[in-house]
Amino acid sequence: MRHIAIVGSGPAGYYTAEAAVKKWGDEARIDVFDMLPVPFGLIRTGVAPDHQSIKGVSRRYEKTAIGDTVRFVGNIAIGRDVSIEELHSLYDAVILATGAPKDRLLRIEGSDAENVIGSAAFVGWYNGHPEFANLNPDLSGRHAVVVGMGNVALDVARILSKTEDEFAGSDIVTHALDALRNSRLESVTILGRRGPHQIMMTPKELGELLQLERASPQVESADLPPLDDDAVLEPGMRKSVTLLREFAAIPPNIHGEKPIAIEFDFFASPKAIDVTDGRATGVVVEQTVVEAGRAIGTGETYRIPADIVITCIGYETSPIEGVPFDERAGRFANDQGRILPGLYCVGWAKRGPSGTIGTNRPDGYSVIDIVDEDIGSGHRKRGREGFDDLAAERRLDIVTFRDWQKIEEAEIAAARHGSPREKFVDIESMIAARGL
Ligand code: NAP
Repeated sequence: MRHIAIVGSGPAGYYTAEAAVKKWGDEARIDVFDMLPVPFGLIRTGVAPDHQSIKGVSRRYEKTAIGDTVRFVGNIAIGRDVSIEELHSLYDAVILATGAPKDRLLRIEGSDAENVIGSAAFVGWYNGHPEFANLNPDLSGRHAVVVGMGNVALDVARILSKTEDEFAGSDIVTHALDALRNSRLESVTILGRRGPHQIMMTPKELGELLQLERASPQVESADLPPLDDDAVLEPGMRKSVTLLREFAAIPPNIHGEKPIAIEFDFFASPKAIDVTDGRATGVVVEQTVVEAGRAIGTGETYRIPADIVITCIGYETSPIEGVPFDERAGRFANDQGRILPGLYCVGWAKRGPSGTIGTNRPDGYSVIDIVDEDIGSGHRKRGREGFDDLAAERRLDIVTFRDWQKIEEAEIAAARHGSPREKFVDIESMIAARGL
């Protein structure tokens, strides 16, 4: 019997658990830990609430979660309730699938103003992550600036622009829907420090901007490279740039019908944030040129008004005491997932915050191959039984998968009309709901 601990119940965690079941069948016991009482990580708190079909992948994780081989151990934080050394002493392999939950910081003057918010916090807020449920962003101003040209920037710009009706069928939490209903935004400027050929946005997500009821994307034709230059792009990227060309052809007078402009501002590197009374009022950007793929500042600057700034410039893994960390890359120091003997990482905690949800599947399968190679077939440690003794001794309140199913039932029962669920946004309510 192999005893495996997976820390983190998001896509990387559950694909790894699935791979372990495929590899060892009933000859393994796999405990999947999460600090929240609810599973599925970014599927619940990262994927946009209006992208329900993507969230559907959690049904696949459920199949892995149900049964005796894999066990969900919710409401247990490694580093707070149990140390990594303790896990290590109990399980043959500990696999960190803790993702990258911290915002990469935009380290410029003024970026600590209260209305400069990282995407982990903002996305967590509209998705009901308990850590960010009380963020209360001020959406009463007219101008939002979103820094970064990746898919998270697109999610944020789209969520800021949608009408209440457009959230029908989504599971956006009510506190966010209320705040967005009262928003007075007229512009959302998406800042890219490089050009149209360097965006990190995918065509499906870009195309959604054309479907918005009250907002319209705007691109300056002068920012686009000659059409022939698109020939060198790989097909997905070419589709994205073709959409940018489509945006450039939208007449500016569309704003009579669509009052929110989603403006793509290319070759614009944020240099400082203007702050008055602790609040950002504008972003000073330096114009750039792109040489060999790198943004080079031209020294020319201009100012964009901003009543709220949301930085969507990537994420970092949270370090765990005693686990080697690569500060520069913002993830655990590892060699193909190996950190130390018996300690592994997978997903964003291993390779940084890139790729789609599906990218985690081969990642999970490959780490299980490596663990298999390393630990062989002998029984060594106490695993689940040992953990349960420790949990009992410490009176830890474990939330099981069955408990989660009760929490989910309560969320479904509380849903607004047309919404799949109304999420509990604080840990106490989640825990209380398992007894309902
Ligand atoms: P990302 O794709 O890495 O994009 C980050 C953006 O921030 C880039 O445009 C980058 O510009 C910019 N940036 C970084 N540092 C900056 C700085 N100091 N100043 C200005 N700009 C800066 O990251 P992400 O959007 O957070 O997405 C993370 C991952 O999740 C991606 O793989 C993404 O595709 C995925 N995701 C997918 C979906 C979906 O499929 N629907 C939705 C959300 C997220 P440079 O390129 O110039 O560095």
